Amino acid sequence: MSARIIDGKAFAAEIRGRVGEEVARLKAEHGITPGLAVVLVGEDPASQVYVRSKGRHTIEAGMNSYEHKLPADTPEAELLALIERLNEDPAVHGILVQLPLPGHMDEAAVINAISPAKDVDGFHILNVGRLATGQKAMVPCTPLGCLMMLRDLHGDLSGMGAVVIGRSNIVGKPMAQLLLGDSCTVTIAHSRTRDLPGVVKRADIVVAAVGRPEMVKGEWIKPGATVIDVGINRIPAPEKGEGKTRLVGDVDFESAAKVAGAITPVPGGVGPMTIACLLANTLTACCRIHGLPEPEGLTA
Ligand code: NAD
Repeated sequence: MSARIIDGKAFAAEIRGRVGEEVARLKAEHGITPGLAVVLVGEDPASQVYVRSKGRHTIEAGMNSYEHKLPADTPEAELLALIERLNEDPAVHGILVQLPLPGHMDEAAVINAISPAKDVDGFHILNVGRLATGQKAMVPCTPLGCLMMLRDLHGDLSGMGAVVIGRSNIVGKPMAQLLLGDSCTVTIAHSRTRDLPGVVKRADIVVAAVGRPEMVKGEWIKPGATVIDVGINRIPAPEKGEGKTRLVGDVDFESAAKVAGAITPVPGGVGPMTIACLLANTLTACCRIHGLPEPEGLTA
């Protein structure tokens, strides 16, 4: 058996296209342009790449993009003052503070300073609580992208057994909440889980968000299961030349694709969905702030 490869790149392009159409409609019918403010503190190279890419896609979707770059030694009070200004700014509907922040800053305090209505990353304690209690929330982008792919593939997820490997606040925990919200029977596995292969073997849906290259093996997977690989790991690729590297997920793709029913590749699976969901969240936030109906299928 050979798994269906889930094309996250194509699905993300479809979502971005839908967001673009809705943005054009908002402009034409209401004279509103959604705006996303991205704040980057410091010069972390990976964060710079992410922020540039977010800005480009925001503009391509017809939204306004506001970038704020602060030096690494910015006092926390200065960042909090900027967030306050963005909270008050009517042109800004989404605020994203790129993580990780420099060590002298209290990440939780910074995130919780963002207006929950503009918290497009869905990390504010109020949005976390709303998601956990089944209320309308801003939902973290990566798990939202995974959920959209699963719904697209299966329609109704109700009753399916799901294992989420990883319990981070950014991916694992919100992913588990979303699957629970869709009536899956959810197990959260983590670094202390006993017999991880046995736990994974029982699942119809496996979401791997660990950060360990190719850890989940094909023989762990239940035949026909759907495998969503969130991991992004850079490993040496001597076959491409000296000093070269390549990206792999948390799942051993080659062996897993022989057993699974469907699987996301890395790259080209979950990754592109994350930015598409950031745009979708910005649109959703804008509609909610203005009391307008939200477009269907772009949130949880
Ligand atoms: P994290 O380091 O915060 O969390 C990792 C989790 O894995 C922890 O909860 C830990 O308990 C668990 N874990 C560690 N070792 C384990 C083991 N041996 N067995 C079982 N569980 C184990 O990481 P994160 O922020 O959740 O990210 C996870 C991965 O997803 C990383 O590779 C990251 O780069 C990637 N990621 C991708 C996207 C995307 O857009 N595709 C977004 C966010 C994160």
